[in-house]
Amino acid sequence: MYDIIIIGAGPAGLTAALYARRAEKKVLVIEKETFGGQITHSPKVENYPGFTVMSGNEFADKLIEQVMYQGAEIELDTVTGIKGEAGDFTVECERGSFCGKTVIIATGAKHRQLGLDRENDFTGEGVSYCAVCDGAFYKGKDVAVIGGGNSALQEAILLAKTSKSVTVVQNLPFLTGEIKLREEIEKLPNVKVILSSIVLQILGDNKFEGIKIQNTETKEETELSLDSIFVAIGQQPDNESFKDVVKLNEYGYIVSDESCIPEGSIKGIFTAGDCRTKKIRQVATAISDGATAALEACSFIG
Ligand SMILES: Cc1cc2nc3c(=O)[nH]c(=O)nc-3n(C[C@H](O)[C@H](O)[C@H](O)COP(=O)(O)OP(=O)(O)OC[C@H]3O[C@@H](n4cnc5c(N)ncnc54)[C@H](O)[C@@H]3O)c2cc1C
Repeated sequence: MYDIIIIGAGPAGLTAALYARRAEKKVLVIEKETFGGQITHSPKVENYPGFTVMSGNEFADKLIEQVMYQGAEIELDTVTGIKGEAGDFTVECERGSFCGKTVIIATGAKHRQLGLDRENDFTGEGVSYCAVCDGAFYKGKDVAVIGGGNSALQEAILLAKTSKSVTVVQNLPFLTGEIKLREEIEKLPNVKVILSSIVLQILGDNKFEGIKIQNTETKEETELSLDSIFVAIGQQPDNESFKDVVKLNEYGYIVSDESCIPEGSIKGIFTAGDCRTKKIRQVATAISDGATAALEACSFIG
């Protein structure tokens, strides 16, 4: 019987583990894919206090090392549901189950897809969701980034270092990323921005050849011949497995405020990080939630 079972080993879950272990609770962290979560996809983290620049992987490694040093247990498995009640929860996974007095859901979010025909067929072969993972495959090639927010602009800046050309395709008439990134984009000679345009179609039969885009104002359609696209149009949470024990909003986020106690949930369940309703989804806010959720769980256990 664990005191606290944490679902998800991103910055939120790992911080929760750190705080819970410092309170001498018996802690298990269950992660289905990548210890460190989304930040492992970031080539550069420059907005976390305490250091000037660090890769997301380096940052994640430090978090994991710290949590292991404090004595948290970790398990690689996918959680499929939570059963029971406070003091006696069963966290069900694909390969087994674990018992805990309390549970913290810190499942984060994942990349949103365009929802186009052939998108899944070409994933990894022309369609990517991560420049840091796949950018090197397109050295000297023509690529596009779909989206205009912070993640999209970060991806474009990274790709511009090695790709021949980078076309940023944004559905809105302006880029929504922060000003520092927009200024950096403007200075890059091999980056072109196409605004007010949506992707209509992925081109190519057996091999990815490019995309067809449409201007949302003029309705004009254009084919772009490309070697790859990098889709960066936001994220979606992964909370379906928990819809019986916590309330999800229309987008699938766990409804919760800064207390990290989900609205209307069974007592003893807490949430942290990008998986819950919140305005700003960043490492700093995920980490803040992790600390809050762990301390709430500790005081619940008593
Ligand atoms: C490309 C990119 C660049 C970024 N750059 C920055 C930056 O520079 N600065 C910054 O502050 N933020 C940045 N972010 C955002 C930041 O990474 C996130 O806000 C942060 O990682 C959220 O932490 P989290 O722990 O809530 O969720 P996540 O990091 O998403 O971690 C959740 C974890 O839960 C796991 N999980 C999900 N479902 C289950 C399940 N059923 N069972 C078991 N495990 C599960 C997932 O596999 C994942 O590892 C970036 C994000 C991306 C994608």
